[in-house]
Amino acid sequence: MPTYNGHCHCGQTEWTVKLDDPSHILCHCDACKMLSGGECTLNTLTGKDDIKITKGKLGTYDYQGDSGNPVHCYYCPNCTSHVYHHQTVMGDKIVIRTALLDGGKEFKVAAEIFGKDRLGWQPEIAKTFPGPPQ
Ligand SMILES: [Zn+2]
Ligand SMILES: [Zn+2]
Repeated sequence: MPTYNGHCHCGQTEWTVKLDDPSHILCHCDACKMLSGGECTLNTLTGKDDIKITKGKLGTYDYQGDSGNPVHCYYCPNCTSHVYHHQTVMGDKIVIRTALLDGGKEFKVAAEIFGKDRLGWQPEIAKTFPGPPQ
């Protein structure tokens, strides 16, 4: 699996992550809008053990996901860049923010999720699921 380097906006935290399928999944859900301040977030899935924090220490923020299960978010405590999150309902998989990875600008969009919450002016780019991935 190829390994990618990531760093937050201020540079206080860095990490490496192994990705099976280096591509973006756009998430249009309302939680992503509020957490990012943008129309959607760019993500992919990988294993819990495939991320290594190589510099600094991440802060955590927890909320209750649509499934009713906790979601643990990990971010830089200085600049608030959101590095990854773990939806406990997904077991040993985590959701990585692909826009923060070196080379992430070259990734293609593989799919879109929570298309029901897409803003009206945002065109469909890839296969879209109305809610979570099926
Ligand atoms: Zn930072
Ligand atoms: Zn989302």
